[in-house]
Amino acid sequence: MDINAIVISMASMGGLGLLFSAGLAIANKKLYVEEDARIAEVMEELPGANCGGCGYPGCANFAENVVNGKALIGGCPVNTDDGAEAIARIMGVDAETGERLIARVICRGGDYETAKKGIYDGIQSCTAAHLMGGGDRLCEYGCIGYGECVEVCPFDAMYMNDNNLPVVIDDKCTGCGNCAEICPRAVIEMHPESHKLFILCNNHDTPKVSRQVCIRACVGCGLCVRAVEEGEIIMDDNLAKINYDTYGRVPVIPTEKCSTNAFETFGAEETSEVAA
Ligand code: SF4
Ligand code: SF4
Repeated sequence: MDINAIVISMASMGGLGLLFSAGLAIANKKLYVEEDARIAEVMEELPGANCGGCGYPGCANFAENVVNGKALIGGCPVNTDDGAEAIARIMGVDAETGERLIARVICRGGDYETAKKGIYDGIQSCTAAHLMGGGDRLCEYGCIGYGECVEVCPFDAMYMNDNNLPVVIDDKCTGCGNCAEICPRAVIEMHPESHKLFILCNNHDTPKVSRQVCIRACVGCGLCVRAVEEGEIIMDDNLAKINYDTYGRVPVIPTEKCSTNAFETFGAEETSEVAA
């Protein structure tokens, strides 16, 4: 055989090969659909039995449909309660009701409201400050103010206001709970969307001390407790707490006499205020 013919056919085969590989690489890049990372996370919380009891061909397919909102979070009949709760956390919804969860900052003690115990010049991180005496704010229960929660929010759903308090943008919050998890003061709580009324304080000091550390602290006077039906608001170690099983789903502030205006409503057009 002519040597030239062999070289030409080898070169053209090689060229064609290169052309096809380049085409496949471009198509792969263009048509690539990034898989939602939550599918793998949900998979990890499933027993992996592939029994089909959920109505889907296998655990992977069930996980995909949970993330796409087509399957119920508790739809796996052989999963444990812990597993179902973990899936609810991944999906940012309440495990029992399937309701959307939103982060709520349970503190109003920013730079303007809290007394200072001195100047803190250590590492500007809430966790570090918490371990090294608590930053410069006197309240031992409230927000420290260095915005670690804002830093860990993957969805830009938080910012620090000019009072150095975090603010949650409801529409952007996916309920992932990262902020609540990182906060060393447990000042951020995850609440179902139906919770409309809040007491924005986390301080358990005695009335005398709480008054001294923050002008917005709940002072544990009990006025709100007496303004509602028994059990709707309870006192928990000097701090008023709303019992959401029976109260707090309607944005009505129970008393206008709360001396520190600790109540706040969220997700409601208007606030109806009634006197005790
Ligand atoms: S809410 Fe917690 S994490 Fe966020 S700024 Fe305050 S102390 Fe830091
Ligand atoms: S980290 Fe961001 S998205 Fe996640 S719960 Fe907190 S505010 Fe919402």
